[in-house]
Amino acid sequence: MDDCLFCKIIRGEIPGDKVFENDKVFAFRDIHPQAPVHILIVPKTHVANVLEGADKGIVADVIAAAAQIAREQGLAENGFRLITNCGRDGAQSVEHLHFHLLGGKKLSEEMA
Ligand code: AMP
Repeated sequence: MDDCLFCKIIRGEIPGDKVFENDKVFAFRDIHPQAPVHILIVPKTHVANVLEGADKGIVADVIAAAAQIAREQGLAENGFRLITNCGRDGAQSVEHLHFHLLGGKKLSEEMA
């Protein structure tokens, strides 16, 4: 999508701190990290959120990549959090499906 921030990062038009890429998924470090490891995992196909991506198999590709990245980042032993925000009440600020992979410390038990 022409004016989507994350599409521009995927295309290399805006710099991103890339940590992973395959034919379907791209991942880069969040610019405002909320944990020692904070990576955004996004599909290369533009879908706005998990509602749009779920029935196309896109979410499964992103989750598979997230599991690989979690292992590569050394998060498998102590654990991590993998979340996606959706819409206004979910506090989604970028309308390109993304999962936050957070880890590297004991995270808060608060979910909201
Ligand atoms: P969300 O609020 O779930 O939509 O998450 C969007 C995330 O994108 C936030 O955690 C931002 O810090 C992050 N973000 C925004 N712009 C950039 C950027 N240029 N590079 C990396 N992360 C970004």
